[in-house]
Amino acid sequence: MGSPFKLVFYAKDDSLAFRAAKAAFARVEKLNEIMSDYLDGSEINRLSATSGSGQWVPVSKELYEILAISQDISAKTDGAFDATLGPVVQLWRHATRKGIFPPEDEIRDALNRTGFSKLKMNPDGYKVMLTQKGMRLDIGGLGKGFAAEEAIRVLKSFGIRSAMMDAGGKIVLTDAPPASKGWKITVSNGSDSLKTMELANVALATSGPTYRFMEYKGVRYSHIVDPKTGIGLLFHVRTTVISPDGTVADALATAFSVAGIEKSKVYLKRFPGSKVWLVEKQDERVANWNMLE
Ligand code: ADP
Ligand code: MG
Ligand code: MG
Repeated sequence: MGSPFKLVFYAKDDSLAFRAAKAAFARVEKLNEIMSDYLDGSEINRLSATSGSGQWVPVSKELYEILAISQDISAKTDGAFDATLGPVVQLWRHATRKGIFPPEDEIRDALNRTGFSKLKMNPDGYKVMLTQKGMRLDIGGLGKGFAAEEAIRVLKSFGIRSAMMDAGGKIVLTDAPPASKGWKITVSNGSDSLKTMELANVALATSGPTYRFMEYKGVRYSHIVDPKTGIGLLFHVRTTVISPDGTVADALATAFSVAGIEKSKVYLKRFPGSKVWLVEKQDERVANWNMLE
């Protein structure tokens, strides 16, 4: 999934710890085979290849679950989060590699093949339909959060109560470490440490253009795309979300980056128990920031 994953937990003895860690990472590996955008044979890429066939395609329970969460968040954020942005994401990835800005007609063509309402879900037998030819799913915006949740679930099945999974900045926490109030998490903005929190039994996800962006004529574009324009976010946005669920936290961090502060205030009301901290930067200066509750 393109990021280091880190697991920290407390167990009764070494043998249990090793078995639990091995099982948790095996689960992550299995999920990678389902969700990876880079593996041609991944379940998600095979599903995308059926777009426009008019067929309901049975998918794994995991993939169905991720897509169902994704669709719910799309609906509640007016499409700021959209797992059907694959064609646009691919275009940008290509452009980033070549160092060129994607031509306007190619952006338009890719955008025409996106839109979360074109993705149909049928819970009866976990079936999915991509209703237009040339669609491509991309769950990079919430996959790591889902993987973190699943790794923690595996640890719990081994009886482990106190654990932290950090999946590339998408963190899921269970009970506090022994004799402490919580896991110490510091949210930083570049080199400045801004806030340290003690958290337990909650998820926290950060999205930001720290190292993945494309630069063209001195302007930086994020790998997070605005679904309305098909263009990488211009603003340097860093968004941290705290939420009861890791998949939701990951998706919201991406969605709120797109939506910006004012709209995020509205959307946040639709996600009970979630908080967001949003920094908007322009020209390396902090243009605006806010802690929203
Ligand atoms: P990261 O995973 O890099 O830490 P995110 O969770 O924000 O950061 O995910 C970014 C990825 O999500 C992009 O690389 C792309 O695959 C996908 N994506 C880009 N724009 C959107 C969007 N508006 N909605 C949903 N997914 C997006
Ligand atoms: Mg992601
Ligand atoms: Mg995300």
